[in-house]
Amino acid sequence: MVDTKTFDRKTAGAAPDARPLFFIADLHLSEAIPKTVAAFEQFIDVTANEAGAVFILGDLFEFWIGDDILDASVAGERAEFARRVTRRLHTLAERGIGLYVMHGNRDFLLGRRFMREAGAKLLPDPFVTTAFGTRIVLAHGDGLCTADRGYQYFRGFARNAFAQQLFLSLPLKTRLNIGQKMRMKSRDARGADMSAKYDVTKRAVSALFIGNRTNTMIHGHTHRPAMHREVEGARWVLPDWDLDIEAPRGGYLRLDAEGLEAMPL
Ligand code: MN
Repeated sequence: MVDTKTFDRKTAGAAPDARPLFFIADLHLSEAIPKTVAAFEQFIDVTANEAGAVFILGDLFEFWIGDDILDASVAGERAEFARRVTRRLHTLAERGIGLYVMHGNRDFLLGRRFMREAGAKLLPDPFVTTAFGTRIVLAHGDGLCTADRGYQYFRGFARNAFAQQLFLSLPLKTRLNIGQKMRMKSRDARGADMSAKYDVTKRAVSALFIGNRTNTMIHGHTHRPAMHREVEGARWVLPDWDLDIEAPRGGYLRLDAEGLEAMPL
């Protein structure tokens, strides 16, 4: 349903002015986590000024029920929140900073209208880019968690264009209610289960490296931030963000001529 041809292969990797590229994922933004939202706004307004482009590798939002929430006529704090974040993202384009957005497993309904209003280009998952001499495969990461059979079944369904149309044809109010329920459920479960079932499998990682002829990978989703040394290369995992808890966490990856570096907020 979403046009994956809207990205620009040249600008996604070129960084002609040699400014660094920043990578983030799994902010899980909603109006329920104001400190995390404030950190996001600080990142966009201040931190990102140094970047040539910002790559969001999925799950920027905790849930996205459809681009029609951006209609000014939709009332309520969730709609206002969606519009506020979208407007904030657009300030990057106004400052000449590229913005590339990949779908996550929660916000895979981000559509053309969102991309236009945010000044973003949609990236397919996976996406290969070459920057500063490094060929890198980018992915959200949920597609690598192949030990979780139940989830992979859901993923196949959720990313099916017909299923998406069916969901989007529901009244906005119904979709908002579904979104609210899914959000509460996921927040309860957050970080609760770090078992191997919810991590990537060696087999899927290997296939992504080899299939894309690269030895550098960046993904999010698993909430296990680190540079994991795999047989085929370096697998950089982005941290999720949560600053509304006792031990706040978050961060981003920075790529320049020196290579990749994990940065705190
Ligand atoms: Mn995810």
